[in-house]
Amino acid sequence: MNSQVYQTVIIGGGFTGLFTALHLAHEHYPRSVILIDKDERFCFKPLLYEYFDGEMDSFQVVPRFSELLKGSGVIFVQDTVQSIDLHQKEVKLASGNSYNYSNLVLALGSVTGYHQVEGARENAFPFWTQADAIALDHHLRDCLQKAIQTEDVEQRRKLLTVVIVGGGASGVEMAATLGDLLPHWYSALGGNSSEIRVVLLNHGQKILDGDINDPLRPIAEKELQKRTIPIEILTGAEATAIHPNTIEYKSNNQVNTLSTYTTIWTAGTSTHPLIQDLPIPKEHRDHHNRPLVTPTMQLLDFPEVFAGGDCAAVQDSSLPPTAQVAYQQGANIAQNLKAIALGEELKPVKVSIRGTLLKLGLNDAAANLFNVFEVAGESGHLIRQGTYLTLLPTPIHDFKATTEWVDEEIFHHHLDPHNVGKKVVQAVEVVGAGVVGVLVARKLLKMLGDEEKSK
Ligand SMILES: Cc1cc2nc3c(=O)[nH]c(=O)nc-3n(C[C@H](O)[C@H](O)[C@H](O)COP(=O)(O)OP(=O)(O)OC[C@H]3O[C@@H](n4cnc5c(N)ncnc54)[C@H](O)[C@@H]3O)c2cc1C
Repeated sequence: MNSQVYQTVIIGGGFTGLFTALHLAHEHYPRSVILIDKDERFCFKPLLYEYFDGEMDSFQVVPRFSELLKGSGVIFVQDTVQSIDLHQKEVKLASGNSYNYSNLVLALGSVTGYHQVEGARENAFPFWTQADAIALDHHLRDCLQKAIQTEDVEQRRKLLTVVIVGGGASGVEMAATLGDLLPHWYSALGGNSSEIRVVLLNHGQKILDGDINDPLRPIAEKELQKRTIPIEILTGAEATAIHPNTIEYKSNNQVNTLSTYTTIWTAGTSTHPLIQDLPIPKEHRDHHNRPLVTPTMQLLDFPEVFAGGDCAAVQDSSLPPTAQVAYQQGANIAQNLKAIALGEELKPVKVSIRGTLLKLGLNDAAANLFNVFEVAGESGHLIRQGTYLTLLPTPIHDFKATTEWVDEEIFHHHLDPHNVGKKVVQAVEVVGAGVVGVLVARKLLKMLGDEEKSK
């Protein structure tokens, strides 16, 4: 391909890459855009638990790129990037194809980090993609099925014990989800759900320590105990080895073991190998080995290359690796790509952190809004899903998912004016810059108004 052709290549179609592409399409970007992802579907990771537990459908959480990009003019290529040559301005793919670019967007996200714990990569379940969610679902259902059939008490205990390694947001959300879901699944098979154990193993003394969700710890600790099966939290416990049917951990300088066929790994992320391999000097990387970018999101040594989301770090700024940062950076990268094409000045990226949202079981969540107030329980769940639904990509997708969810989940299921206080109305108004927030707030206000009138 002729490198003189003005062509923008985006590698990785996650929050950064997909939102860059959608914004470019929306802004009628005058150059051709190619989006490359190894998967056929975009994964809305914060809602992966809802996909896993059946609260939401695949068209909402893992829609196809071809559907999301229909009519946008963006060319989608499903292929795995194998190498990036920043000097030759070329990206090579597993299929043998290669693309030259005039501008490149690095949006490869991060990968699960196993911290060299023995057997973790081989024997623990990651929870990162749609494929991970499906694999875990099949495994757990298989364990429950076997548990129902066995007479061997020891064997049944192993089959019904799940250990989650990592007390960060992902581990807490996973533990809470399983604390409600597994008893439900097991009872449906005719099993005694009180035999299920869900153990959350955390290296540090506190869960959510140093996490953006830190302020929600007291709520999370309380809600974890309120699940159908209360979660056993082991703090100060460092996982040291994972085998197919046991996990070893160190606590108070003693090595302990727990018998289980299911260890779920949520204990860390690592910089994407392709990003580690880039010819970028150490002094232009952060302590996670991610390349530093300028406030306009460009690599320091290759200004034609933009990078955002989990795979880059903005100079002199510390932003958490989250979806809300990634999609805002994607929008700004698009603005700056357009500025280059039109010969205009590039603008620094402004990212605003609106708050944090934590799933804490079926129909339960906690929201920390602007560090001003916190909402928990079913109201938190309503805010969390409503907020994420406003972010689902493309107006068509947004509309379809939003209307179905608003109709089924809010208006028919959750919305009882006697259960929903003014705090939720306030919260939804604050968060709800988008469709659902406004809809819900209006509906709530109307219902509360109707209620006032009828008094
Ligand atoms: C289970 C889970 C729950 C989360 N919950 C929240 C939450 O509640 N709130 C929040 O703000 N954040 C949450 N996060 C974090 C958030 O999802 C990430 O910060 C965000 O996805 C980062 O966006 P990104 O664009 O950098 O990377 P990603 O969204 O991970 O996208 C990277 C893309 O690159 C593609 N890719 C990777 N390697 C290759 C290759 N070699 N070739 C081609 N394509 C490739 C991948 O398929 C993927 O589509 C969660 C993450 C997980 C895993």
